[in-house]
Amino acid sequence: MTVVDVAVVGAGAAGLAAAHRAYELGLSCYLLEAKPRIGGRAHTDTETFGIPWDRGAHWLHSADINPLTRIAEELGRPYLARPRPFDGNLHLGDRWGSSAEWRAYRDEFEAAYERANEEGETGHDISVFEVMDNGSRWARMVHHIFTAISGVPPSEISTGDLAAYRDSGANWPLVRGYGALLEARYAGLPVELSTPVSAIDTSGAHILLETPRGTVRARSLIVTVSTNVLASGAIRFTPELPPRLQAALAHVPTGHANKVAFHFRRDVFGLPETSYVNFMDERDPSRPASSFQINPFGSNLAIAYLGGDLAEGLDRAGEAEMVSFARAALSDMFGTDIFKELSDVAATRWASDPHTLGAYSCARPGHADQRAALAEPVSERFFLAGEAVSPDWYSTVQGAHASGIAAADRAAAFLDRAIAAALPR
Ligand SMILES: Cc1cc2nc3c(=O)[nH]c(=O)nc-3n(C[C@H](O)[C@H](O)[C@H](O)COP(=O)(O)OP(=O)(O)OC[C@H]3O[C@@H](n4cnc5c(N)ncnc54)[C@H](O)[C@@H]3O)c2cc1C
Repeated sequence: MTVVDVAVVGAGAAGLAAAHRAYELGLSCYLLEAKPRIGGRAHTDTETFGIPWDRGAHWLHSADINPLTRIAEELGRPYLARPRPFDGNLHLGDRWGSSAEWRAYRDEFEAAYERANEEGETGHDISVFEVMDNGSRWARMVHHIFTAISGVPPSEISTGDLAAYRDSGANWPLVRGYGALLEARYAGLPVELSTPVSAIDTSGAHILLETPRGTVRARSLIVTVSTNVLASGAIRFTPELPPRLQAALAHVPTGHANKVAFHFRRDVFGLPETSYVNFMDERDPSRPASSFQINPFGSNLAIAYLGGDLAEGLDRAGEAEMVSFARAALSDMFGTDIFKELSDVAATRWASDPHTLGAYSCARPGHADQRAALAEPVSERFFLAGEAVSPDWYSTVQGAHASGIAAADRAAAFLDRAIAAALPR
């Protein structure tokens, strides 16, 4: 059977970039993907509503320095380069907040974000919760925004991790979708779809990967699955992953985020296109806050964004529960009559998707250094890639992309050394 130079597990942003780079370097490669599609957590759904909406990644984060922005430009994929795209409206349950109330909430979030960064930068790796004003009127809203950013509640977000993120402040949404951008970029890249890897044996001369289509043999290995998938044991490793790596996986879990998208037959909101609204019901302190993108690019969509335990809990409860939660907030903000114009609704299930088991990674307080442990080679010919491995752009597509390229370069360097040492070819 053929032996390839590098086997890449997972065709999300990291795996696609790794395989593409491997071919650029003249290596032979197998890219193995469990799902019947590429893109992983960057997936543009054009089927459900007949118009594109991103089930996962949507924003070019740090867009002015994000390498995917240039790729979008080269491929003629438009994005919306607006400053402060999350500025918008705040609804308080039975009325719209004033601009002063909106500003007060936003100032409080920005102050907490700055304090968290300062703590992290000065080596105090504590939880974001500790720098928040938890007794304040806006604490629930601020809690939601941090949770949406990180996938876990502020009590589980490390200030050291937060401070390590390279945020240029530019966040630009892709009009035709982030998943669609990856599909366009990597059209033609050879990939084995619907090929889940169930076991990997790195103990012999060649690395062996078990798949339903047979065993793949490779000289080097790049694994790009999420930290939760890796920790779940869905892929059996022989020998087992080293204890230091297992510890790092536990300290950098994949947090949760989900979206609920409502498609209406016409514009029922009367807001400018691509508006952003936040919802915090002051009548009921037990009700979690949420946020919505309204009419993105004039699409008649309302897309709810749920983070952390809420996103995970509703996901496990089922699509009907997710829809009902988001629908209740929309009803309070815009009235129940809007649903007379509802044409269809869909919810994402990233927490229960066995190939992701979450949305994006976040280091636990006190463990920001564990990302570096994920980035270390597992062995001289076995490398991890993926968003969680990125030291400064974790949780994003561009971080996954950069980690994939770096892993392919490392594999190539190993193979060069191997040739030099005349290891088995
Ligand atoms: C709701 C949501 C919103 C987001 N918003 C943004 C955003 O606006 N901007 C942004 O930059 N990022 C965003 N992200 C994060 C971004 O999507 C991820 O960071 C990035 O796509 C991760 O890429 P990856 O290659 O590391 O992992 P993945 O995309 O998870 O790729 C890993 C691949 O491995 C496959 N796989 C799993 N198990 C196996 C197996 N056993 N065998 C073979 N293949 C396997 C999976 O199917 C998957 O395709 C968002 C994510 C979510 C869920």
